Amino acid sequence: MAEAGSFAERVKQQADIVRVIGEYVRLKKSGQNFTGLCPFHAEKSPSFAVHPTKQIYHCFGCGVGGDVFKFVMEMDKVAFPEAIRIVAEKCGIAIPRPKASSPEERKENQQRTLLVEMHREAQTFFAQQLGGTLEGKAARAYLEDRGLDKDAIARFGIGYAPSGGDALLRFLKSKYKEPLLIESGLVSRDQSGGARMYDRFRRRITFPIANDSGKIVAFGCRALGDDQPKYLNSPETPIYSKSNVLYHLDRAKEALRRADFAVLVEGYMDAIAVARAGISNVVASCGTSLAEPQIKLLSRFTKRVIVNYDPDTAGQLATERSISLLLENDFEVRVLALPAMNLTADDGTKYSKNADPDLYIREMGVEAYTKLLKDAPPYVDYLIERARHMDLSTGEGKLRAVNFLLPYVQKIPNRLLRSEWATRIAQQLRLEEPVLRAALSKAAAERRSGLKVAPELVGRAAKPVERRLIRMLAEADSFRRDLALRLSDAGLCVGLETEKVFAALIAANLAGSTIEATEIAASLEERDRRMLFEILFEESSEFTWEEAESCIESLQNRQTERALAEVQRSIEANPASTEMRTLLAKKQELMRRLAAGR
Ligand SMILES: [Zn+2]
Repeated sequence: MAEAGSFAERVKQQADIVRVIGEYVRLKKSGQNFTGLCPFHAEKSPSFAVHPTKQIYHCFGCGVGGDVFKFVMEMDKVAFPEAIRIVAEKCGIAIPRPKASSPEERKENQQRTLLVEMHREAQTFFAQQLGGTLEGKAARAYLEDRGLDKDAIARFGIGYAPSGGDALLRFLKSKYKEPLLIESGLVSRDQSGGARMYDRFRRRITFPIANDSGKIVAFGCRALGDDQPKYLNSPETPIYSKSNVLYHLDRAKEALRRADFAVLVEGYMDAIAVARAGISNVVASCGTSLAEPQIKLLSRFTKRVIVNYDPDTAGQLATERSISLLLENDFEVRVLALPAMNLTADDGTKYSKNADPDLYIREMGVEAYTKLLKDAPPYVDYLIERARHMDLSTGEGKLRAVNFLLPYVQKIPNRLLRSEWATRIAQQLRLEEPVLRAALSKAAAERRSGLKVAPELVGRAAKPVERRLIRMLAEADSFRRDLALRLSDAGLCVGLETEKVFAALIAANLAGSTIEATEIAASLEERDRRMLFEILFEESSEFTWEEAESCIESLQNRQTERALAEVQRSIEANPASTEMRTLLAKKQELMRRLAAGR
């Protein structure tokens, strides 16, 4: 953690935790604390608290907590040094120049910087081409036909890669060396092994793909005519990895936090259509299936998703794969499967057509889409619907349907809910419920074995007296050291639920150091850390030495009671003991002490 005199320490002192966390969570003043909806678990009423003077946060719901760096580390999924940098930047604290890195690292950094710069220039180039040349004008007409007007084109940076084959290359060649041009993925070398280079994207509409901090790192391109493939994207490069980027995330961040759910679509055209419909909390996986790093990325902003993939077979498979992955990452998942649209052709014939979000919004309107989104069913309903379309006429068929559903149902964490779903599935698929339940509990047993037991809510374990004493040891500057001495001499905290918390606080007091909640917490196990934070967040009155003494007395009495119970057990266990006289005398003495203490 932050070492004294270090840059981290300086940032921590100057940073205002309420302001930093306030950028991620809407906080409201509540008593001495600020509270809000926890960004780390889904909740409807606030149990997340930030303490402005102790500079710590704590969630009474899921138990997370720590200092400003820990928050940024968890929230932005970054390492400690990066968290320091982020907090410093947010608070306008000048960052010292990093230590000289190795020559290779320097070279790689330089290369990445150049690649990002090159993408920015390519973006300018593509944008200029659209509407700026004859074929660019044709591309523009095509876009307008698909409902993308001037505003949309500007807003999403849509551009055009001309058909010539080396227009971008000529534009970039004077500024960048050949190996870097190849490295960027914007330029390819002749397949036949020749030295000739040409543009990767030709005669295509270009969509800039930005990483989560808004830097363009790749392009997704759609063929203008019937050229194949219909979609062609940048290859993996030093600045772009498909599975690490969610399209539109850089612009969706705020909306995601506000709405606390994401609409997940397949392609950039869908994301643009949904965002233009006023639903800004949309991201696209840009590929048929969602990858684990993308889920981790998304979980920084919300843990609730409505999957809205294409209704074709590939889309259905991608939906199922995504559901699995999302559930494994504790997401709450709903699925919007757009219904086939009934359309009328120009000659009056009626026909029905499967719709992706883009097409659906264009044909049926924003309102119809928004309503479907609002009513999107939980994933289990979607899956039951899928299973109902399987062949259920034979026993084998039914078994296939159950086996299709089971892996998903067993991922439902709540037992009651799981049981409800079992009934629903049995009814809907006309299965015998006991058979289904047997399969379900078998699956559940297998699941449990691999499950980590969540730490129980431990705050309750600490009795009021202990809670008061812990607060005093942390905050009563006029006597906390004396108190530490008294408690440690008498061994009064041994055997308490809070023993480890006391031990850490007493040690810090006796070492004469200032009491820093996060420093103490760093030496504790998670369970004890939660206990400490919950106690520190309680509203409290002034501390007096008299109160401390009465708390000590109460601990003494409890210690005596424990000793008495011990003696009583020995007496009862062996009534013929030769030491009976000693035991009885000890009992008398303990009872006398207890009476005096009350
Ligand atoms: Zn929480």
